[in-house]
Amino acid sequence: MSSTFSMDPGADQLAVRDWLHGFAADVVRPAAAEWDEREETPWPVIQEAAKLGIYSLDFYAQQYFDPSGVGIPIVMEELFWGDAGIGLSIVGTTLAAVAVLANGTDEQIGTWTPQMFGTPDDVKVAAFCSSEPDAGSDVSALRTRAVYDEAKDEWVLNGTKTWATNGGIAAVHVVVATVDAELGARGHASFVVPPGTPGLSQGQKFKKHGIRASHTAEVVLDDVRVPGSCLLGGKEKLDERLARAREGVRRSGRGNAAMATFEASRPAVGAQAIGIARAAYEVALDYAKTREQFGRPIIDNQGVAFQLADMRTRIDAARLLVWRASWMAVNNRPFTAAEGSMSKLYAGETAKWVTAQAMQILGGNGFTREYPVERMHRDSAIYSIFEGTSEIQRLVIARAISGMPIR
Ligand SMILES: Cc1cc2nc3c(=O)[nH]c(=O)nc-3n(C[C@H](O)[C@H](O)[C@H](O)COP(=O)(O)OP(=O)(O)OC[C@H]3O[C@@H](n4cnc5c(N)ncnc54)[C@H](O)[C@@H]3O)c2cc1C
Repeated sequence: MSSTFSMDPGADQLAVRDWLHGFAADVVRPAAAEWDEREETPWPVIQEAAKLGIYSLDFYAQQYFDPSGVGIPIVMEELFWGDAGIGLSIVGTTLAAVAVLANGTDEQIGTWTPQMFGTPDDVKVAAFCSSEPDAGSDVSALRTRAVYDEAKDEWVLNGTKTWATNGGIAAVHVVVATVDAELGARGHASFVVPPGTPGLSQGQKFKKHGIRASHTAEVVLDDVRVPGSCLLGGKEKLDERLARAREGVRRSGRGNAAMATFEASRPAVGAQAIGIARAAYEVALDYAKTREQFGRPIIDNQGVAFQLADMRTRIDAARLLVWRASWMAVNNRPFTAAEGSMSKLYAGETAKWVTAQAMQILGGNGFTREYPVERMHRDSAIYSIFEGTSEIQRLVIARAISGMPIR
């Protein structure tokens, strides 16, 4: 199904927006400071989201396939307006789910995606494990190996993953591994590691600068054996792909498994950044109208008012880019200028810039944990790093617009 691009969300999208906003305002925002300080996964909030239907495969699938294209961006913006750390704890699972949706067979999708979310009475989370200590931006440098044991029809995974959101606490882990190191990124494949599989353990849990409620950890894979059916897409498809790669045949428009997952999720990540930026902008606007210095509200100074005007302009510009890219993705438009990367780049940088301006407008208060902009500023910093750094987004855009192998 295809739709015309519109900046005017329909009644359905507006209803979802208002519903999500209510949850973000009533449940997420009030819990934000506590979970940021605790640096722990906010299970009670995820459970509450599950009970309301906000943490469920059906809900995200419905939004993902909404032909207006704005379903997912609206959900992300509202949740992350509430709080980014809690927001990521709620939607982190979708990264692993998208990996299965993008690369798995119908049977694999039906088997694994429900287990990623669990049930409202027994919620679970999932993790997508691609990054490694020596393979961050350079995904082709992955060292985690997957070796096929033909006699048992099992794959054996060995390696160390890092920076995995929900790594080690997830029920289902999706692991990207190399099956043929000589082929670089074209020799990668994605595997589901089912709940309770021996050999998978959590390594270091990171103490972070921002999004501290979201769990980020290393995942160690020590002779992890998974059934042949856990290879996403199946063995026949993998063998065909490897044979083509060995013959040097390139298929246009299809990157490796990890890149395909990242590309699909970039506008959604941009929308998260917009949620943080909008939240900080709103706090700063209110503050500027009420804080008085020199006998008048500080917004009476053009210097402050223009700052707010620029903040709002950049937020709206970022949203336009995100909605366009998301609409293009849903309606299968080709990303000829890497519009998905463009949206994530601009929204991520906007969140960092807007939250810094917001802190400045709040003066000393902006620098304290009494006010939320300090947390929002810390949270925004990740948006130029994960899902491809800002430099990598620029690289992708530069290659797309030039057709040249810019390095
Ligand atoms: C909180 C958090 C959550 C994460 N969640 C996940 C997850 O769930 N799953 C997962 O797989 N990964 C996850 N990541 C990993 C994340 O995607 C990587 O951190 C990111 O891709 C950057 O890799 P790196 O940290 O190794 O930095 P590096 O690749 O080492 O980059 C260091 C710097 O060099 C720059 N640089 C590198 N190459 C180039 C180039 N060619 N041109 C110009 N500049 C360049 C980068 O832009 C960056 O500024 C997460 C990371 C964090 C911090």
